[in-house]
Amino acid sequence: MEILKAIAASPGIAIGKVFLLNAKRIKTIKKKIAPEDVPREKERFERAVCRIEDQLKQLISELPEEIKEHSNILKSHILMLRDKMVYDKSLHLIETRQVNGEWALELAMDEIKALFSSIKDSYIRERLEDIGFVVNKVKAELAGTETRLDLSSIDEPVIIVARNLSPADTLHISKEKVLGFVTELGSRTSHTAILARSLGIPAVVGLDDITSKCLSGEMIIVDGLLGQVVVEPDQEALREYSLKQEKYLAYRLEVIHNSNLPAETTDGYRIKVKANMELVEEIPIVIQHGAEGVGLFRTEFLYMTSKTLPTEDQLFSAYREVVERLKPYPVTIRTLDIGGDKLATTICCEEEINPALGLRAIRFCLHEKGLFRAQLRAILRASAFGDVRLLFPMVSGKSEMVQVKRLLGQIMDELESEGKDFNRQIKIGIMIEVPTAVLTADILAREADFFSIGTNDLIQYSLAIDRVNEAVCHLYEPLHPGVLRMIKMTVDSGHREGIEVGMCGEMAGEPLYVPILLGMGLDELSMNAMAIPKTKKIIRQSDQEECSRLVSELLGMDSATQVKERAIEFFRTHYPPDMETTDFLEFGQGIR
Ligand code: PEP
Ligand code: MG
Repeated sequence: MEILKAIAASPGIAIGKVFLLNAKRIKTIKKKIAPEDVPREKERFERAVCRIEDQLKQLISELPEEIKEHSNILKSHILMLRDKMVYDKSLHLIETRQVNGEWALELAMDEIKALFSSIKDSYIRERLEDIGFVVNKVKAELAGTETRLDLSSIDEPVIIVARNLSPADTLHISKEKVLGFVTELGSRTSHTAILARSLGIPAVVGLDDITSKCLSGEMIIVDGLLGQVVVEPDQEALREYSLKQEKYLAYRLEVIHNSNLPAETTDGYRIKVKANMELVEEIPIVIQHGAEGVGLFRTEFLYMTSKTLPTEDQLFSAYREVVERLKPYPVTIRTLDIGGDKLATTICCEEEINPALGLRAIRFCLHEKGLFRAQLRAILRASAFGDVRLLFPMVSGKSEMVQVKRLLGQIMDELESEGKDFNRQIKIGIMIEVPTAVLTADILAREADFFSIGTNDLIQYSLAIDRVNEAVCHLYEPLHPGVLRMIKMTVDSGHREGIEVGMCGEMAGEPLYVPILLGMGLDELSMNAMAIPKTKKIIRQSDQEECSRLVSELLGMDSATQVKERAIEFFRTHYPPDMETTDFLEFGQGIR
């Protein structure tokens, strides 16, 4: 049993079998085995060799006519598989050294290499490479390594362990088949983590080397509350975590039970709490968790999953469904934010060296006007069916808004002349996620009906921290005095111009920050639906006057460490212990 710690990406406890995916390279997992397990290990080894043999034979039979003559290479690989120095030697080593098949293969390979090391002949050297290839194939087979996410063959739910899961992979994850996941890459604000939280799937990310530490089919525990993973848990750990899982589920039920209570502080400050969503399947979760509407509907999904570009009518019917099912609540539809770590299969973007600073979001849309037009038409048409608000991502200054509004005006005229219904008074919002948007918030506020602060990107761009790079994610600091000042500046500029200011970045749904955001005077918080009940609970236990005094105090501090210490102290003294909020205070992991 091994206990490993990383970043808590999505709360909950998952206990199940590993489904290993996408390992960066095949590393040898070395395990000693008990004498009584030797026959089983030899059998496992033989089975893996047979499967590779079958695969190679199949490949030979499928070779196109023009390259059939090269089948000799594959035939020689089959021979190598059964070579005495590889096959017999490995079986012998499993028995005499009591090691697992992978380790035995590596030892056998070391001997072969030593034997051939003094030979300079290039033909022999190439054969050595062939043997290495065959050995690696068997190792991968033994480790059960897959390279793409295909869950069709599994008949029981699994825990995915992967080097990385692309947002597109995550979109294919269904709750029935996936109990949880662990990845080597990623941070709390990578889209994969955001989606895991939306779907309520426990996840731990940024766990270095996890793909080399477990095998497909082995038991594993994912503790998404503590950011902890237990590989091959013993009976006691299994018992302990089953209890914790039960407790957590009971806690969630209780929290959800109160989710429709209003988000009002003890001194009567009313703040709107809404949900971020991306998939139609999330609608029941959004409603059940007490959202007062959708503060951020990410629209990348349809562009990321289908093989062809979605048409205006397809977009319209998807948006209409969301709007109608959430009626009478408002739905804020954000226009396409493709680029960065969200790549679309349907859009052929040039590969960029620095995609986060590249042709992303509004820049991309203003560049690809045809695509943008289709989406704007679809959103406007959906506005005839409920309370729709429009939100533009990655705006950096007024000129983009001037272009956007000109285009929007043209499209409205077009729709009118076609006799299509829409709401001409639709509210227009700007995401504040680029530092220059903060600095010109007074100007931008005159171009919009509301602001929504996107802290995921605002922090990335202001602190120069790549939000998907786990190597720098410890530097990603929402409580940096510079970040706090930017939030305050945005709220104040918006309010001076008489518009509402909300926040839809992940920061809005983190318990520790809730009193600070209340104290900043935000009008709306939008977050993954799972976080709504606990956020509302914290709001109901808060006094807004006291929170604004806390904010004045924090804004006078000169380091993130000082701010964090004070924020944690405030939290501990004002809110009773709670399953989802105390753990992260202890470990300091969940708040990244
Ligand atoms: C943000 O940047 O905070 C945000 C909400 O948008 P996204 O995470 O989709 O970039
Ligand atoms: Mg963003």
